[in-house]
Amino acid sequence: MSALYVVAVGAVPPKPLEWIEAAAAEWFPLPVARLPALRMPERAYDPARGQYHSVEILKAVARAAPANTTRILGVTEVDLAIPVLTFLFGQAQLDGPVAVVSLCRLRQEFYGLPADEALLRERAAKEALHELGHTFGLTHCSDTRCSMSLSTDIALVDAKGGRYCPRCGAHLVRRFAALDGEQS
Ligand SMILES: [Zn+2]
Ligand SMILES: [Zn+2]
Repeated sequence: MSALYVVAVGAVPPKPLEWIEAAAAEWFPLPVARLPALRMPERAYDPARGQYHSVEILKAVARAAPANTTRILGVTEVDLAIPVLTFLFGQAQLDGPVAVVSLCRLRQEFYGLPADEALLRERAAKEALHELGHTFGLTHCSDTRCSMSLSTDIALVDAKGGRYCPRCGAHLVRRFAALDGEQS
């Protein structure tokens, strides 16, 4: 049976993984399962930037995917970057099986503020839905309340909702209907 896998890359506390699994289970008609945490790939660290190469983490997540993977979402605490962007909240293969989301800049502590568990939960769910939406072929949405709207800073993450808009939702429903064919 196919599954949507969640896997920590490096050390991640259990709660955010559970929140992300709950959000995924709410929206995606797939069994959601956890894989054992992966070690951070050594080559992912960029000492010049003090950040981690998102693409290397995506590759590590892809390598860990079991044969019955429909989608696999890596979750990490490290700060992600790619050469042309100063940071990423997450990254996904458009219409591909693999995505990653970082909790680093979703934590209030990153901005010098006291930890806020409820806010972290909301943000983690939004960004997990956003990246998983990409894996099901969704591009950025012009509805600023939709989880698929592009967030380039934390204020924009907070401004959007933890749901897909009707248009993105309808796209997902069509994709879910085609899932059986995709797996055969
Ligand atoms: Zn995006
Ligand atoms: Zn939308």
